[in-house]
Amino acid sequence: MTRLIVVSNRVAMPRDRAARAGGLAVGVLSALKRSGGMWFGWSGETSESPAPQPKVVKSGGITYATIDFTADEFDAYYNGYCNSTLWPLLHYRLGLVEHSRQNQDAYMRINARFADHLATLVRPGDVIWIHDYQLMALPGELRLRGLRNRIGFFLHIPLPGPEIFCALPAHKQLMGSLAEADLVGFQTESDLRAFRDYALYEAGGSQRPDGAIEMFGRRLRAGVFPIGIDVEEMKALAVEAENDEEVRRLADSISSRQLIIGVDRLDYSKGILNRIDAVGELLTTRPDYRNRITFVQIAAPSRIDVARYKKLRREIEGCAGRVNGKHAEIDWVPIRYLNRVFPRRQLAGFYRVARVGLVTPLRDGMNLVAKEYVAAQNPSDPGVLVLSRFAGAARDMKGAIIVNPFDQVEMAEALDQALRMPLPERQERWRKLMGALQRNDLATWSDSFLDTLNTSERAAA
Ligand code: ADP
Repeated sequence: MTRLIVVSNRVAMPRDRAARAGGLAVGVLSALKRSGGMWFGWSGETSESPAPQPKVVKSGGITYATIDFTADEFDAYYNGYCNSTLWPLLHYRLGLVEHSRQNQDAYMRINARFADHLATLVRPGDVIWIHDYQLMALPGELRLRGLRNRIGFFLHIPLPGPEIFCALPAHKQLMGSLAEADLVGFQTESDLRAFRDYALYEAGGSQRPDGAIEMFGRRLRAGVFPIGIDVEEMKALAVEAENDEEVRRLADSISSRQLIIGVDRLDYSKGILNRIDAVGELLTTRPDYRNRITFVQIAAPSRIDVARYKKLRREIEGCAGRVNGKHAEIDWVPIRYLNRVFPRRQLAGFYRVARVGLVTPLRDGMNLVAKEYVAAQNPSDPGVLVLSRFAGAARDMKGAIIVNPFDQVEMAEALDQALRMPLPERQERWRKLMGALQRNDLATWSDSFLDTLNTSERAAA
């Protein structure tokens, strides 16, 4: 029988809630729950002398196999190459990219170590599904060890075109590794186009009439598989949460005002500064909104050892402080900024109370918060989603008000439009959005990726 082996940087162990505060973990877990199998990756722990063998735990039909890193490895591979080099580069932020050969070497070493362990765990016939930018060198490393299994790779974050991607000194190594997969999946057409452009214009490859891509002497499939959410779960959580103490506190404190909500990991890709400025712009140009709106921004601490993230945290505090200082009244502040994680159920409740979901990343692979916000709404009185055109989610969420997050004035106008939107229009837009979410939920995503992987023709070019 074919087993599914999921590989991701971080394994979210059962009941390990902190590790699940990301779209990837939620998606992976649901795929494994449905098919059973193994999840391999980092434990989330560092230790001075990591055990030579993975730690294996079985729970709920899933086998969890994890390894530790040393603190130095974690710093060079994860904080360094993954999150100071690849993350900004793949989010189109060349100006934020830091590069060092030591960090690159650490990344390649960790990817090679993943392959060493997997080579001992994988049986012939297993299907391997590798996730995300932390493991781009892994397909190639697995083939070097003689593994002939089907390998799928899914990139959860954006892929920029070769003009940007080639700024990465290891671009050829990483793309050469992806070419060793049988299927490479992306969130949007634009990411797929970037991959195809790399194959055609940088690697001298070609595209076959059936869509397969040939590069570096390999033939592989590449496709778009936009990740969705578990719509029913989010709906149920939001209804349950109506009785939650924190949700009640929020609703009571808002009273007759309108609530605008932002929920993100604290990351520069999320456009939190631009968003706060847009709220300031609205209050400047439309002072009649004073004391009539409240903007709650929840930002979960993320990558706290990376200098750029520390700086961003200070910038957000400064920006929220300035806007509050300028516009607050003696009995009202426009912005409430909360730098912490909330349980999913409470988040669902907060979404449901909010008249506007303000989701304005400068660049985002998909953005699950946009989808969660919609799923959590009350059908008889739904809120309005204001969504950045640069979120992968914008492709499929035409019922949202789509904005350019770099345009403060446009964002303020969108907020005004959302706050004034009559009920019938809100309902119509929400139905459209909800329909799209239901057609393309989390199960559709993993099923369609795995079906395509299982039926992909396997051949060297
Ligand atoms: P990313 O994967 O870049 O963090 P997504 O929007 O795709 O962005 O996914 C973020 C996930 O993390 C969502 O499921 C969201 O509910 C969750 N999340 C974000 N911020 C918080 C928070 N402050 N507390 C709890 N969960 C959060």
